[in-house]
Amino acid sequence: MTVEIHEALTMHLIREDGDEDLCLAMYAPSTGALRDSALIREACLPLDGEREVHGNATVTGRYVLRVAREARNRGLGVVILHSHPRGRGWQELSRLDADAEASYAHMIAQVTGLPLIGMTFAGIDETWSARRWSAEGKHSAAESVRVVGARLRVSWNERLVPAPSAMPSQLRTVSAWGDRTQASIARLRVLVVGSGSVGMDVAIRLAATGIQKVGVMDFDVVEEVNRDRLVAATRRDARRQFPKVDVAGRACVNAATAADFEFQRHFLNVTTPEGQSAALDYDVIFSCVDRPWARAILNQIAYTDLIPVIDGGIGIDTFDTGEMRNATYRTHVVRPGRPCLQCNGQLDPAEVSRDRLGLFDDPTYIEKAGQPEVGKQNVTMLSASVMASQLALFVSLVAAPSKFGEPGPLRFSLTTHRLQHVEATTNPACIYEHLVARGDRRVPLAQTVATSPAAGLGPIRTLIGLVAPYLVGGRVKGTHLR
Ligand SMILES: [Zn+2]
Ligand SMILES: [Zn+2]
Repeated sequence: MTVEIHEALTMHLIREDGDEDLCLAMYAPSTGALRDSALIREACLPLDGEREVHGNATVTGRYVLRVAREARNRGLGVVILHSHPRGRGWQELSRLDADAEASYAHMIAQVTGLPLIGMTFAGIDETWSARRWSAEGKHSAAESVRVVGARLRVSWNERLVPAPSAMPSQLRTVSAWGDRTQASIARLRVLVVGSGSVGMDVAIRLAATGIQKVGVMDFDVVEEVNRDRLVAATRRDARRQFPKVDVAGRACVNAATAADFEFQRHFLNVTTPEGQSAALDYDVIFSCVDRPWARAILNQIAYTDLIPVIDGGIGIDTFDTGEMRNATYRTHVVRPGRPCLQCNGQLDPAEVSRDRLGLFDDPTYIEKAGQPEVGKQNVTMLSASVMASQLALFVSLVAAPSKFGEPGPLRFSLTTHRLQHVEATTNPACIYEHLVARGDRRVPLAQTVATSPAAGLGPIRTLIGLVAPYLVGGRVKGTHLR
């Protein structure tokens, strides 16, 4: 859920008189390759007389039916939530709670066609717990509950996903942010999309930090021309055209400090349905790709599926003589509450559609358009700065030093070495940012193979049509920041 929904729910659930309280909400399913999530779209607080509070709160059948009908009309599911104001940590289900939730599970599944989700909020340390009910009244516990804002707060089901014990090799890391933060960060599933000069280094450092599950997604192979930036790749890797994802895997396994490190290999393109589904299994995604279409996919799931995306890129300006004029890098966390890549001037919908048509792989188009190839100029020493900034944003997001979360979009200019906060605002017509918690009803941007140039362009046309009037002068300067 977003932090706004979390606040609306807890404001209701934590009462001044200290009694338990209860309410309902609606959710959208988000289906990954291996993981299902329920994204809370909207809190549905009770109207007068729709619930009774007397130590153990109860809802009326009228309330449940009202919300179930509305959920059905909107294609959503129902969540039933209650509080344990004096509870701490993940709450196991008492017999009384289980009976109450089970009594609605069948009716809600019948009305909405989606399973009932039950949630409990522990008031002392603000921990959420959750479970899914089958229509037959059997429940299975969730692994975690994520609240996405300037900070990513995760409540962990310690029984299913126990905190890993800190290793001697992690002593310096743990002494920087403490056991609790380390235990939470180590359990996050983190995906790096794009295993180039930035992505590969990001992945290695995630593994070294002690994160247990690091995924890397890339469908490219190493070539000699990559070796000035892929510092983990060898001459032999280039000679035998080794997949970049396997170079990343080897380096991550060597660097990992977690006792049971798992490298998740995705030799896939995130613009395919398989690539997109795999991405939905993760808690945080690093966007280290240079193609507009791939970034559009990640830009969308940051909102539709509430997965924070840490994106960054570098643009190098050269004089006509070929010498360097300036280098600018920009980094930002894309999430509900922050401008999307399009509003932030980092993604041009026209380029997304050109990429989708395969024009960026067509040498005659590139020549005719007179545009530099995306990501053509790069310097490994500067990629390290982009990586550093993206990782620092990750630390702000998940460890939040002094309770400050991620700071909003950043821009660094190499000539003057000035770091600025970018004043990007949301375009009122932005459609990405209106798709918060859409889940599986996201705009279908991913596609298996481009059959004909016009195939599957419907949604893209819609995107362009809605946004085009607000694009001044077509290409936004800095689009090629990679
Ligand atoms: Zn209870
Ligand atoms: Zn936007």
